[in-house]
Amino acid sequence: MNEIELIDYLTEGFPIRHNNVIKGIGDDCSVWKEDDEYRVFTTDSMVEGDHFLKDWFTAEEIGMRAVETNLSDIASMGAIPTFLYVSLIIDDRTSPEWLGDLYKGIRSKCDEHKLTLMGGNVTHGKTLSITIGVQGDSKSMPVYRNGAREGDLVVVTGTIGDACVARMVLNKKKQIPDALKDRLAHPRARIREASVIAKFASAMIDISDGIASEARHIASQSNLGVVIDADSIPTRMQVKELALIAGIDVLEAQMRGGEDYELMFTISPDKFEELKNEYHLHSQIGITPIGKMIAEKKYVYLKNSVEATLPKGFDHFSSNINL
Ligand SMILES: [Mg+2]
Repeated sequence: MNEIELIDYLTEGFPIRHNNVIKGIGDDCSVWKEDDEYRVFTTDSMVEGDHFLKDWFTAEEIGMRAVETNLSDIASMGAIPTFLYVSLIIDDRTSPEWLGDLYKGIRSKCDEHKLTLMGGNVTHGKTLSITIGVQGDSKSMPVYRNGAREGDLVVVTGTIGDACVARMVLNKKKQIPDALKDRLAHPRARIREASVIAKFASAMIDISDGIASEARHIASQSNLGVVIDADSIPTRMQVKELALIAGIDVLEAQMRGGEDYELMFTISPDKFEELKNEYHLHSQIGITPIGKMIAEKKYVYLKNSVEATLPKGFDHFSSNINL
């Protein structure tokens, strides 16, 4: 069973019992309505050995990453984060000092994003794990994965593959430039960008598991197909150079490698110019069309005009350590 099949199997027979629920399982956040506002909620766990090693990052960085990766799901709805919950399983090898530093990282993110720590849980177990829950607000209808329409452009923010290539090079015990190390250690949820994009986009998702699986999610949930033009995926020059030296396939890293925490969204071609004009008043981060939604239900990419099937992306149940 892959991750989605397991979730479907486990959650069968759980009806939505409240009529203010708009979205339950199956998007980046759940969504419900309170008065005139929309509330969103997401939760995610990081387990030592599977999602991080203490050698990779400082405790403070692990705390910051844990918060930002959850905020990325809030951003992908076009919402603003408000409340934070933190639950820990602490093993015997983790010191109170290390945990103090972890919370320093969490606190700095609460200060930066004006979040209130609302609660959580602390318990003991065999493996260190950090579970974060974040609630957010949106005054307008959040953007879902399933709203794409035939002919919409597929667009991404920022550059793709930075974090994955950085990790692969570090795993080979080679040095990487500070800017790339920063992309891996300090992901930044695109909250400000998303709040502008949300006014124009038909569907949106954050890129946590590589562009192939995110494009597949939008296409399958919108009942459409997708074609990605591999030659237009925005790629940092540093990533190209580093990958060449280290013998890494950049396209493979962009397709299947996670952790860039950029956004992928779809938008009607006639709205794109208007979005760009407003977007660039708010952000320096690029927005680049990389493909198109099509009626035929196929998930493909074009490389040098040759068509190939989009890879399935990273499956958390098939291997250890996310690339
Ligand atoms: Mg997500």
